[in-house]
Amino acid sequence: MNESKKAMSIDHLQQLDKIVSLSKSRGFIFQSSEIYGGLGAVYDYGPLGAELKRNIRDAWWREMTQKHENIVGVDAAIFMHPKVWEASGHVEGFNDPMIDDKQSKKRYRADMLIEQHIEKLRKDGKEKEAEQVKELLDTSGTRVGLCEDLHKIIMDYEIKAPESGAFDWTDVRQFNLMFKTQFGAVASAEDADAVYLRPETAQGIFVNYKNVMDTARQQIPFGIAQVGKAFRNEVVARQFVFRMREFEQMEMQYFVKPGADEEQYNEWLNKRMEWHKGIGIREKYLRAEPHPPDKLAHYARAAADIQYLFPIGWQEVEGIHNRTDFDLSQHQEYSGKKLEYFDQSTRDRYVPYVVETSVGLDRTILMVLCDAYREEEVEGETRTVLKMHPELAPITAGIFPLVKKPELQELSRKIEKDLREDYRVLYDEAGSIGKRYRRLDEAGTPFCITVDFDGLEDNTVTIRYRDDMKQERISADKVGEVIRSASKSWKPESK
Ligand code: ATP
Repeated sequence: MNESKKAMSIDHLQQLDKIVSLSKSRGFIFQSSEIYGGLGAVYDYGPLGAELKRNIRDAWWREMTQKHENIVGVDAAIFMHPKVWEASGHVEGFNDPMIDDKQSKKRYRADMLIEQHIEKLRKDGKEKEAEQVKELLDTSGTRVGLCEDLHKIIMDYEIKAPESGAFDWTDVRQFNLMFKTQFGAVASAEDADAVYLRPETAQGIFVNYKNVMDTARQQIPFGIAQVGKAFRNEVVARQFVFRMREFEQMEMQYFVKPGADEEQYNEWLNKRMEWHKGIGIREKYLRAEPHPPDKLAHYARAAADIQYLFPIGWQEVEGIHNRTDFDLSQHQEYSGKKLEYFDQSTRDRYVPYVVETSVGLDRTILMVLCDAYREEEVEGETRTVLKMHPELAPITAGIFPLVKKPELQELSRKIEKDLREDYRVLYDEAGSIGKRYRRLDEAGTPFCITVDFDGLEDNTVTIRYRDDMKQERISADKVGEVIRSASKSWKPESK
């Protein structure tokens, strides 16, 4: 059965609700502790999501460590010595300014509230007022103090609470995003004993810099890569897996000689952009946005976001930062341990500069889902399909006997067993072939193999391709080979 399709015009920017609902119905992503009503901004990955996540993580790890002889991996603990977060500046400065609506008791990020107000003014055609508020927001913190400045803008422009519509605000206060917990049996509630859940994986790399230097026989420039959980008590966390309180980061810190940092920063920005295209993201939905010099974080000499056009607009997926020698110098000072590099050939001694690439695994998953999601009209019905890179797909192939007959089942099972050595596959004999295709289209499965009676005669099967639904007859012995070469040659344009 050949299917013919018509692309339905579905606005890329209106897809988020559909993706959330498909994620749940097909088992990609569930709300955490859902049977208890869920936990805000915490999510669990289901069977398909766990495979997709693993495939993306593996693709990143392979790219960073396997393909670069001078990048090695570590897997540091989530708990770290409390001094780490003093040295890194997180205890003092990892804050968001927040304000509470006294009526609804809801908490908002003060800067975001003002951003939303600016958007609203623009929509209402009040461009001049929007510009005024934007100017004040951009220069906030330069007059009295950040909190006071933001509070004054909210008061002066009478910005109301989005949910309750009330204008009954508390003061703006700094809210530290780190989760604090107690450690060991004798922990007290005193801050001195506080242990934090790490808000980024990077520090696990900096504190191990010397260990890795001493053991992995690396010379500068070299990198350390890590994938792991990070935790942030985000104030605004309402955008599915885009902003979570527990999430996973894939970070690489590249240690370079001071002076070589600028070139390496540009090189890594390009390399990382290419990686996003390489995992099948359409180029037109990707862009690099440099941070203006006056908006740089305290540790950075240069920074850029790699952004994707999500249904919620252009947003950061990955940050590329030139962190200078800030982190290693801080840890040198706080720990009292020398973290210098000695260059044997030039007899130079210096604290290396660091170029960092930091990408969110969960945000990448959301980007892959958004970029893959399509609705098409096929024979009068809507087909929902995830056109993702075959190498990311949770299930690579479906194997179907045309009908439940022992001869067909036997050959199907044999093909399934062979493919299982290299791929995750699914054997399915329930329902019509059309229904079986549709189920796997929604799972993003790029290939379906159907075994019929004609094939038993000449040892052939039909392979059906997800993206264009074309079908081909191929030798039953060549299924693995055909899948391998079609996966390798797949291009996002074929979406
Ligand atoms: P944002 O401005 O969106 O809060 P950030 O600039 O604080 O992000 P970084 O600290 O640079 O982000 O973290 C690097 C990456 O980690 C981000 O590009 C993003 O992909 C991911 N990330 C950060 N915070 C979250 C979160 N709360 N939920 C999911 N992913 C996150």
